[in-house]
Amino acid sequence: MQYHIDGFRPGDPDVLPAAPGHRRPGDPLPATVDVLIAGSGPAGLCLAAQLAREPRIRTMLVEGKLGPMEKGQADGISVRTMEMFQAFGFAEKVKREAVWINETTFWAPGATADRLERVARVQDVPDGVSEMPHVLINQARVHDLFLDVMRNAPTRLVPDYGLKLVTLAVDPAAGAYPVRVTLEHTAPGREGQTVTLRANYVVGCDGARSNVRRAIGGALHGDAAHQAWGVMDVLAVTDFPDWRMKSFVRSRDAGTLMVLPREGGHLVRIYVELDRLREDERVAERGLGAADIIAKAQRILAPFVLDVKEIVWWSIYEIGHRLTDKFDDVPEHEVATRAPRVMLAGDACHTHSPKAGQGMNVSMGDTFNLGWKLIAVLTGRADPALLHSYSGERRAAAKALVEFDHRWARVVGGHEDEDGADPLPRVAREFVANLPFTCGLTVQYEASALTGAATHQALARGFDIGKRLHSAPVVRLADARPMQLGHCIEIGLRFRLFLFAPDGDRGAPGGAVASLCEWLQHDPASPLRRHTGAGEDVDAVIDTRAVFQQGVRELEFQAMPSLLRPHVGRLGLCDYEKVFCADTRGGQDIFDLRGIDRGAGCIVIVRPDQYVGHVLPLAARRELADYFAGILRVGSGAPAVAAS
Ligand SMILES: Cc1cc2nc3c(=O)[nH]c(=O)nc-3n(C[C@H](O)[C@H](O)[C@H](O)COP(=O)(O)OP(=O)(O)OC[C@H]3O[C@@H](n4cnc5c(N)ncnc54)[C@H](O)[C@@H]3O)c2cc1C
Repeated sequence: MQYHIDGFRPGDPDVLPAAPGHRRPGDPLPATVDVLIAGSGPAGLCLAAQLAREPRIRTMLVEGKLGPMEKGQADGISVRTMEMFQAFGFAEKVKREAVWINETTFWAPGATADRLERVARVQDVPDGVSEMPHVLINQARVHDLFLDVMRNAPTRLVPDYGLKLVTLAVDPAAGAYPVRVTLEHTAPGREGQTVTLRANYVVGCDGARSNVRRAIGGALHGDAAHQAWGVMDVLAVTDFPDWRMKSFVRSRDAGTLMVLPREGGHLVRIYVELDRLREDERVAERGLGAADIIAKAQRILAPFVLDVKEIVWWSIYEIGHRLTDKFDDVPEHEVATRAPRVMLAGDACHTHSPKAGQGMNVSMGDTFNLGWKLIAVLTGRADPALLHSYSGERRAAAKALVEFDHRWARVVGGHEDEDGADPLPRVAREFVANLPFTCGLTVQYEASALTGAATHQALARGFDIGKRLHSAPVVRLADARPMQLGHCIEIGLRFRLFLFAPDGDRGAPGGAVASLCEWLQHDPASPLRRHTGAGEDVDAVIDTRAVFQQGVRELEFQAMPSLLRPHVGRLGLCDYEKVFCADTRGGQDIFDLRGIDRGAGCIVIVRPDQYVGHVLPLAARRELADYFAGILRVGSGAPAVAAS
């Protein structure tokens, strides 16, 4: 991480200098805000943590509950989400605290009536798909980490607890602050009191019963599996051998159970199949409770013994797979005439079973997609029409999830194989086949202004256009530090241009990398010149970095083009962290790992949300300029918020 850029600052570098005039706890509610977020679940907090870093944007997060979550709900963090956490700066902390899921086991009735046997055991994360592990940790801890980022950001953003969004109305004809919002107090003594304010944008992260969704006329469509499940976090004593492994257990006639070890070495979550529901029946009508979950778990696990010492949290739920038609307030027939003002994210626009561990991940994925777009629009760097891409990109990702979840919930809850044989090997087979999906790695955005065509994909076969950047090891030239290339991406709205040098190119003048850098830095047609504001650092919007094929001892940092050694910040200090070499000693050469054309080299454009926007030849200047012209305004870098 880089700091001291604008002068020495003692203390914790994660605590950024406060912006003047930021709102303080206890200050009255503002009459207007740029972004109002409803709901402090994973979706809302992930968005708030990004916006909090931008002092020019006035963000407010309202939460109907009276304080932060302490336990319960989701716990699965996919490898893709861990990659995203890296950009927020807390992946290492999660790695230390969380339990790592390395193997998954499958249990079925044994040959004799009173036995359970382990029938399969598989690797949980395929080799090489990510540098990150698959982990489990309490959703509340994830909330805490986002809250830390918000609190430490220049705006010192904290949620307004005890306030729920009741309704809203959009006046498309209004200029600034066209969304009128009604909030209601929920704290004891103030229940029912309402207050109104106006916002430029409202994001409904208010869960499956979203008021924001209702206010814009959205509805969740889909179906339910009519099956009750219980989930419980326990501290327990058992002789079940795989208590610290993720395990699927199917009993002969008592149903199915999943074991999920949790953080801290002792806590375990169990998902337990309970009763079948009638078509017209709601799960609450059964009156099931914690004792039912434990009793059923004991029956499924028998002859192993389960002695629950402490129930930490439990819930009973019914599986539903549902999706809204649109993740914003603009119907298809109005897309050409107006930009969105209200967006939905997370459970507010898609719901699914917890069994594939995707709810929290996909919800955060939604607002990781939206955060940089809102920042770009509100700081005047992009046209508000950019916000249309949010619903397009994320609805497709959510649709794939809901469809997958539909199949997967039936496989896990299935009692018979297609041919009537034991279903567990089928569960294991499907589990392995679906691993890229559950790792969060199959999302691929379609070709659009943000995602280039695959014309030059062969130049870097391992950086799929439209998928997230698959990081790989490199060594930083200036200090010989081995690191992951993807870890130089931090939250915000900066795009990255990774220049992969062709064979023999050492960064010297006349070479492909130096020529491109020269053009990027000085030519009026270059996207850096066109989209960076006067007086801004050269990497303020488009951050150019290069990776060379030679080892660190073969290159000289001072011989690099000046664009790769920019002087930035208030003091004009040199940035030493933009040039990398292949990791030739570790046998993990990024050019081989990611199929980069060694003869030609290439440009890889990475969006602020870590997705690959384009792969281009090093000489493709017009295409490079066109890509950014399709997203960013010319001469942008506006100092104030552009509301409309
Ligand atoms: C009871 C419960 C149990 C769950 N159990 C599991 C599980 O075992 N495993 C799993 O993988 N997933 C589970 N989930 C799902 C998982 O938690 C969600 O997929 C994930 O949290 C979605 O994140 P979100 O931010 O979209 O919504 P949520 O986490 O639901 O957050 C929505 C937030 O908005 C607040 N809110 C609601 N209405 C308003 C309003 N009008 N104004 C302001 N604030 C509002 C809510 O209080 C809440 O804090 C569970 C969800 C619930 C509700």
